[in-house]
Parts: sequence; C-alpha cells; structure tokens
Amino acid sequence: MNSFVVKKIESWPVDLPLKASFVVATGSMDVAKNIFVRVTLQDGSQGYGEIAPFPEISGENQEACLSAFPAAAQVILGQPATQYRRLSRQLHEVTHPFPALRCGLETALLDALCRGRGIPLWGLWGGADVRSRETDVTLPIGAIDDVVATAQDWYQQGFRLLKMKVGQSVEKDIRRVEAVAAVCPQASFVIDANQGYTFDEARVFIEAIEQLSIPVQVFEQPIHRDHLEEMSILKNQSTIPFAADESLRSLEDARQLIEQKAVDIFNLKITKCGVIESVRIAELAQASGLRLMIGGMVESRVAMGCSWSLVLGLGGFEILDLDMPLLLSTDPIQGGYHYEGSSLYPWHEPGLAMSIHAFHASVVAIE
Ligand SMILES: [Mg+2]
Repeated sequence: MNSFVVKKIESWPVDLPLKASFVVATGSMDVAKNIFVRVTLQDGSQGYGEIAPFPEISGENQEACLSAFPAAAQVILGQPATQYRRLSRQLHEVTHPFPALRCGLETALLDALCRGRGIPLWGLWGGADVRSRETDVTLPIGAIDDVVATAQDWYQQGFRLLKMKVGQSVEKDIRRVEAVAAVCPQASFVIDANQGYTFDEARVFIEAIEQLSIPVQVFEQPIHRDHLEEMSILKNQSTIPFAADESLRSLEDARQLIEQKAVDIFNLKITKCGVIESVRIAELAQASGLRLMIGGMVESRVAMGCSWSLVLGLGGFEILDLDMPLLLSTDPIQGGYHYEGSSLYPWHEPGLAMSIHAFHASVVAIE
C-alpha cells in the first residue's frame, strides 16, 4: 500500500485561555475552544492540525465542528496524502459551512505528508522567503488607560507594529488610538474595525486619523463585509490602504473584491478559507497586483505555524498578524517555530516539527 495513505485520524478538544479578554467590535472571547487533529500515515508519519472556530466571526463553534468531524475525516481516511489538492476540494463539499474544520484536517494532512517526505511545510510551497519576520501585536478594545498600559508593555518588548481593534464607538476609538500613538512614538498601526462602522462613521474615523498624522499601514474591514461599493469609495477617498478580512472568505469572494476594486490588501486566514484555498487566493492576489497580509483566529502555534509556512513558502506577505499564541496563557505544543520578542523564526525540520500530547482523542482508523 502507498506509504502516504492516511490510516488514522484523531481529534480532541482543547481549551486555550487568553491572558486577557479578547474584545472586538462583534464580540469577546476569554477562552478559545479549539480542537487538535492528528493524522497518521501508513509509514507512521504523523501530522498535526488545529480547528480554531471564532463563533462571532464565522458562526462555527467547537461543538458543531466536533459533530461534523467524523464525516469530514472519512473524506481523507484511506486516501493518499500526496493528492491533497483533490482531497481539499472534496473536503470543501463536506465541510462547506465549517472552514476551520477543513483547515484543521488539511493542516494535519499536509504536516504528515511533509514529515513523510522529510521537508518543512514551507518547502511544500516553494520556500520563497525563508527568513525571520516581525509580527504585529493586537490591542483589543478596552478602557483607554488599560490599552495604553498594555501598548507600552509590548512597545518596551520591541513591538513596533500595533494592531488596534476599533468599531464600537468612533469618538472613543479615535481617542484610544491617539493616546497609544502618543506613548509609542516609533510605532505604526494596523486598524481593524471588524465591520463595526457605518460608512459615515468610517469616514469620520479616517479623517481624524489623517488629521492626527497617525501612521496607519492598513485599515481592515471598516464596514460590513457585503458593502463592497462603499469600501471602494472609502478606498478612493483615503490615503490609508484598506484590507478585506470578513469580506474575504473564499476564492469567489477574492474574485468579487478584485472585480469591484474594493480594497488594496487581502488579509488571508487559513481558518476562514482552508489551507489550499488560501494558497490559491494568495496566488490570485499576487497575479492581480493586490498586496497580502496574513492573520489568524484565536489559535495556538499549530494553526499559526501553518500560516507562517505560507509566508515563508509563498513569499509576498507584507504584513504579518501572527501574534495570537503570544496572547494565550498556555502553549501546549512541543517544538516548532518560535518567537523572540516580535520576531518569528523559521524552522528547518520536517512538517511543522511539532508534537502535542493527545488527551482522550476520538479515533477514526482503517484496520
Ligand atoms: Mg480582521
């Protein structure tokens, strides 16, 4: 039998508590309720994946992903991992409302394949840009004094790209961004409204930021994901580059955004689109002259390691929003890539080079 055939798939839920409440315009989270996945191939190679649903953003949750898991696992069980593009397409049909579930299975499949082949996961994508890179760090919505103190703390640790969540109250948002900029003089900013503004509110916010000369590298998802025409107007009226996040949940969304010239930058997340579809979106963006950033949901180094592999392997990512493991109070993973301050470092061992202890895993296997 083909040594890269999938012979076993395990899954187990994991709770990942955050150091502080993660508050964004559409909701908040204290504990990420995720699921780890392990795929074992015929030759014994094992790969890990992570399902990281963010209910307020994608509508998925841990419970729904766990109940949809067995049917999705059957799609890849007994199949050769070398045919991962076909399997990704078939997974898409089964997991359509559950992109995070698809992402977790794809990651584990690809990690196992790369371990079997003896190459790092980024090697599968071509190793276009293998070097250490800086990530931003996220400042969730909160009381102004708390956010300023948190910002100063990160700034002292060397972080120079600060991602500020906004979208609940324009006036408070402007004051908070201004206050953080005042105490972090060398910082530049990513602003993310998570669809929280109306068109007029977005205009007020942007004008204030421009008047205050706050250096904003990108403004993510100022308004509702379906309002592409208004996004295009905002983009044309402003000096700040705009990114689609919630508006970009599939290859079809990417085509629409390009056709309507709605944004300057795509914010890719494997949890929204799956791994292989994210690769296809990145290639389409590059061919269409759009810029790329990459982020994640509330997730550990497993899902984020897969995103980091795309940065290293595909190249062309300008802005990295890969800070989430730094905001968690636990790291249940051994090995893999590591952080030093605001830098992520590449790894050179096969796959994701990680291992995780499986607690009471559910097993789908062939005998
Ligand atoms: Mg975002």
